[in-house]
Amino acid sequence: MSKKIFAVNAGSSSLKFQLLDMPSKHVIAKGIFEKIGSQQGIFTMEFKGRKEKELLDLPSHQFAVQHLLDALLKQQVIRSLDEIDGVGHRVAHGGESFGDSVYVDERVMSIIEELAFLAPSHNPVNLTGIAAFKKALPQVGNVAVFDTAFHQSLRPEFFCYPIPSRYYERYQIRKYGFHGTSHQYIAEKVAALWEEQGESAADLRIISCHLGNGASICAIKNGCSVNTSMGFTPLAGLMMGSRSGDIDPMILPFLMQQEGLTAQAISDLLNKESGLLAVSQLSNDVRDIVEASQQGDGKAALALQMFVNRIAQTVAAYITDLAGLDALVFTAGIGEHSALIREMVINKLNCLGLFLNPSANEQGQLFIQNKDSKAKILIVPTDEELMIAQDTMRILELEQQSSEIQTHKVARTGHTT
Ligand code: AMP
Repeated sequence: MSKKIFAVNAGSSSLKFQLLDMPSKHVIAKGIFEKIGSQQGIFTMEFKGRKEKELLDLPSHQFAVQHLLDALLKQQVIRSLDEIDGVGHRVAHGGESFGDSVYVDERVMSIIEELAFLAPSHNPVNLTGIAAFKKALPQVGNVAVFDTAFHQSLRPEFFCYPIPSRYYERYQIRKYGFHGTSHQYIAEKVAALWEEQGESAADLRIISCHLGNGASICAIKNGCSVNTSMGFTPLAGLMMGSRSGDIDPMILPFLMQQEGLTAQAISDLLNKESGLLAVSQLSNDVRDIVEASQQGDGKAALALQMFVNRIAQTVAAYITDLAGLDALVFTAGIGEHSALIREMVINKLNCLGLFLNPSANEQGQLFIQNKDSKAKILIVPTDEELMIAQDTMRILELEQQSSEIQTHKVARTGHTT
């Protein structure tokens, strides 16, 4: 039976949503509220082939959710709120508590709150989004889908940091990894492609390169995350739009001493003023940097080469972790759209037997390797909202089954367990 599921991503001043019809995957409506908490709020929604933009006072996330539901009714996208079957929420950090998506009850909400020390700028606003939907749609089940959950399969040899273990015990300092929803989507999509082609997906070794403004790489075996480039926070690993990625950690205390920088200033420097933006001294957007580089801008060319080097190095390292490779996948804004970055990365990986078909790459085809390549190379558009909606369906069905079992037990024994 067809179900309507919201996939929601609440940020500190924004709320992105899609309303999907499942299992058809049809996007009924999608949009974003921006500048929540101000009188200059913006609400954009696409539905029925139209795109509407509204400027409005947006005092809170709660107000935005109510406005969204009113708009869906007013525009006759839905006839009644009873048509909404579930709401899936992207939640940044599940710590070690959540290795899968979960039905949201009071206990889950309090664990997400407890985990806010690991993601102080995300978990509390994710909870605000959940609370807003719970209030506006009290009969509808909510599911939390964690950015970290897919990587809970990492073994200690990959998630431990070589620092005294008391910090893991005291503060749970370890590698968590992020972009899990995207990497899991890629893992499932590639496995399905293999099976469609009559090949076994068992033990399939995939390296998923999620290259967007935030960027991470994930080594996947048999559908499970084996290693990933982001760490305790999303700052680690690759060079990104405005994040440094890995640097010598001693640079931090050195700069703090030399420039009298606070911990917050260092955090801002590495998260907001570094990466492609810092090296190109131009932009965090690869499109601008490619254009400048083609016009002879040396800093832009350096930024691109550094960005590519890190990607290729990480792919090479993960081929070792996976003891081989079946599929290298490019996804997200840059991975899906920049033929140049894909070409530069693959050229550096020729020495490991990976080869590009240049015209397939230029045309953005699904498979872009040439016949000599030892592994397939693919472009797969990621779809985190669809993954959230699918997980929401799965978890709501499980919840319903377990409450039916519970009701059955109560009916038989006359008491709850
Ligand atoms: P995302 O975070 O996945 O939305 O990706 C955003 C990034 O994708 C932007 O910062 C751009 O650098 C990049 N991007 C989008 N379209 C293109 C394109 N046609 N060529 C190169 N980069 C692109």
